[in-house]
Order: sequence, then C-alpha cells, then structure tokens
Amino acid sequence: MPTYIVLLGPPGAGKGTQAKVLAEKFDLPHVSSGDIFRENMKNDTELGKQAQAYISKGELVPDDVTIEMIRERFSRSDCKNGAILDGFPRTPVQADALEQMLRGFGGRVNLVPYITAPVQVLIERLAGRWTCRANGHIFHEQFNPPEKNGICDLDQSELYQRDDDKAETVLHRIEVYQAQTAPLISYYKDRGVLAEINGFAPIEEVSADLMFALKY
Ligand code: ADP
Ligand code: ADP
Repeated sequence: MPTYIVLLGPPGAGKGTQAKVLAEKFDLPHVSSGDIFRENMKNDTELGKQAQAYISKGELVPDDVTIEMIRERFSRSDCKNGAILDGFPRTPVQADALEQMLRGFGGRVNLVPYITAPVQVLIERLAGRWTCRANGHIFHEQFNPPEKNGICDLDQSELYQRDDDKAETVLHRIEVYQAQTAPLISYYKDRGVLAEINGFAPIEEVSADLMFALKY
C-alpha cells in the first residue's frame, strides 16, 4: 500500500525541514508545492508567470492551477509508492481533489502531522530563513546555520532569502493560513488522521515526535 503523509501547519512551522527528514527515512519523494512554483518561476514557465503575482503578495495561487500542477507531479512514477506532501493541500477544495487523485492509485492520506508554533516564533523563523537555490534546502541564520555563510552545506549552491519572507508579506501569509488553510485541521481530524506535533522545539526533537507519530 502506498503511504501519503501531508504536513500541515502555518508558514514557518517547520514543514519543509521535517519533510526532507521524512522523505529520506521513508525513501519517498518530497512534494513541495512552493518548491514546484519557485522552480517554475525560476525557469519563467507559463505556470511560473501565473503563480508569481499571487506568491509575491502572499496570496494563495488559485485552486485549479495548483491542483493541475500536483496532478502532473503525481503522474510521475516516483509518486506511486507514496509521497511526503508539504504545502499541499492548503484549502478544502484542494484536499478533496487530493483524496480523489490518491483513490486513483489505491491510496489515501495516511497521516497528517499538524505542526504548530506560536506566531512570534513563526515570524522570527521566516525572517532568518535562507533557502538553497539549487534544491530548496532550508537553513536559518540562527537556529540552523550553514557551515559557510551564504552557501548550502549539501550542494554548495547559493543561499538566498525568499522575497515573500519579508515582514509585511509574512504577516499576510499567516492571516491567509488562518482563513483558508486552518479549516483543514478539522477536515483531517474528522477523518481520524490528524496528529498534533509541537513545532516549538529543536529540529531533532520535532523529528523524533514525528517518527513516534508515524510509529517508525
Ligand atoms: P515551513 O516549510 O513550515 O514554512 P521551514 O521548514 O522552511 O518551515 O522552516 C522555517 C525556518 O525555521 C527555516 O529557516 C528553518 O531552518 C527554521 N526551523 C525549522 N524548524 C525549526 C525548529 N524546530 N526550530 C528552530 N528553527 C526551525
Ligand atoms: P511556506 O512553507 O513558507 O508556507 P511555501 O513554500 O509552501 O511557503 O509556499 C509559498 C507560496 O506558494 C505560498 O504563500 C502560496 O502563494 C504558494 N503556494 C504554495 N502551495 C500552495 C497551495 N497548495 N495552494 C495555493 N498556493 C500555494
């Protein structure tokens, strides 16, 4: 049976950081909707151009565009055994679409770790986040610094600060999360797959809690 894990939580909770740990442990692809959008923006594709206007304002990209993008990603063979989903779904419409897609593979959402942290912590984390140009590896200037300033430890590519991590946009993204994504907490609770994880702890501790929730 394939295994699909959806990481839920506000921007800065640590979804991307933990998704990379889980992807390695379970040997599953890390499917990050934000990374796919950023890759498309970098390559100036039609999808990238469409997404840019929303992302720069901290708004969600429309559901139909996002769902089609994920459908395309899931059509690749590496997702047949499952995936670690990070940043998708972000609305109930997306969650319904995901359910339908997975049914096509004989799968379903197995577990939804919901990672939480206080708003002040989220803001501090996003303000100091450095992202790697080549593969989206994630660092923090204070909480998870790279060995060499501005250089990714894993692939030596340049680290940059995302435009949408500036203070004004961050606050708006947190509001958008509350309004549009937080309803997924009860959506998945009702389906009996939600696992609450305290994200306000050192990275290794959060990983250990996740492993426990996944009975690994
Ligand atoms: P999300 O994908 O939920 O937006 P990230 O994984 O990108 O979150 O993490 C946001 C920032 O916080 C990054 O700079 C990351 O290095 C840092 N970070 C992630 N988890 C923790 C943690 N448990 N403690 C401190 N900093 C963290
Ligand atoms: P973070 O991890 O900080 O929450 P992401 O990298 O997941 O940020 O997403 C960055 C931006 O990409 C979002 O603010 C939004 O504009 C867009 N985006 C990512 N995933 C989705 C999605 N599932 N639906 C709509 N927009 C999305």
